[in-house]
Amino acid sequence: MEGYTLPRRDGSDSAPDLIDLRSDTVTLPSAAMRAAISAAALGDDVYGEDPTVNALEQLAAQRVGKEAAVLVVSGTMGNLAALLAHCQRGQRVILGNESHIYHYEAGGASALGGLIYHPLPTDPNGCIDLSALEAAATTINDPHFSPPGVICLENTHNRCGGVVLTPDYLAQVRTIAYNHGLPVHLDGARIFNAAVALGVPVTELTNHVDTVMFCLSKGLAAPVGSLVAGPAEVIARVRRIRKMLGGGMRQAGIIAAAGIVALTEMVDRLAEDHAHARLLAAGLAELPGVQIDLSKVQTNIVRFHLNHPRLRVAEFLAALRAHGILMGSLSTTSIRAVTHYGIERTHIEQVITVAAEILA
Ligand SMILES: *Cc1c(COP(=O)(O)O)cnc(C)c1O
Repeated sequence: MEGYTLPRRDGSDSAPDLIDLRSDTVTLPSAAMRAAISAAALGDDVYGEDPTVNALEQLAAQRVGKEAAVLVVSGTMGNLAALLAHCQRGQRVILGNESHIYHYEAGGASALGGLIYHPLPTDPNGCIDLSALEAAATTINDPHFSPPGVICLENTHNRCGGVVLTPDYLAQVRTIAYNHGLPVHLDGARIFNAAVALGVPVTELTNHVDTVMFCLSKGLAAPVGSLVAGPAEVIARVRRIRKMLGGGMRQAGIIAAAGIVALTEMVDRLAEDHAHARLLAAGLAELPGVQIDLSKVQTNIVRFHLNHPRLRVAEFLAALRAHGILMGSLSTTSIRAVTHYGIERTHIEQVITVAAEILA
């Protein structure tokens, strides 16, 4: 991304406001996206007549090796619509107890869908314990119990620090699911980060699941939008549920145009974000009071503990903010920094220098 500067909120290219490492959702659209948005051919997508949405959905399905895909407003809507498409009311959603769906999606599958969350222990690598999974996936012929409906995985795993689930592990989960006649849904908000980190085609990950949701609006830098991909007949149900949830958009080609740029131009560059995260982690690891597990810095997320004689997390974050640097607190003792489009090597070097001054 040579010559790239952080776009300002007004869309102009002057000096950056902040080095914002709170999340990769703060990314702003590239110049190519803005151009694609203004040139997009449009139609009514609820009638299936927006050519740009249709092109994005085709491209997305093909990229992840599925029959069909549907554009949704957000990752949260995509996960919810997929779970509702897989399950009947009263069925169990088997998922990790550290998953985004369980923690951060407002309990939608339960509140809106009558589904029951069945959270299972997750190890620090983002993997659900397989024997617990086997037990949870087993249908018990006894009317006391709610039947299993779907198994959910997350890749990369957000709350475990952006760690990557391997094709091997996905294959093991798929075997268990298959043996119990259950579908697997993958919360792949950052599935392209996982594929880039492993250096494999994304289909080596998505081949093991029935449906996958991924976000355009995080590291891929589109302003809005996620996709759900899977078998045509499941995606048709997701499309009806999307409408039910109020997610049927009209001239959504405005959004899809940026999504096409995201999928064609922004995937390979995720490797830069990963390199920047490693650089940041290695720099921070040298500083007094910082504790960091470098083996968990596998993609674009850096998590660390602060145990400093003088500064607590809130004070450290405030001091960074005074220098125009934003990070997020995970707890009273831990911090998260996320690298993304618009953050360059020089920004990372600046962050390390400033953090070193603050903690010295
Ligand atoms: C961000 C995220 C989502 C939800 O996406 P939104 O577009 O913010 O609703 C789902 N799962 C994971 C793992 C995420 O990181």
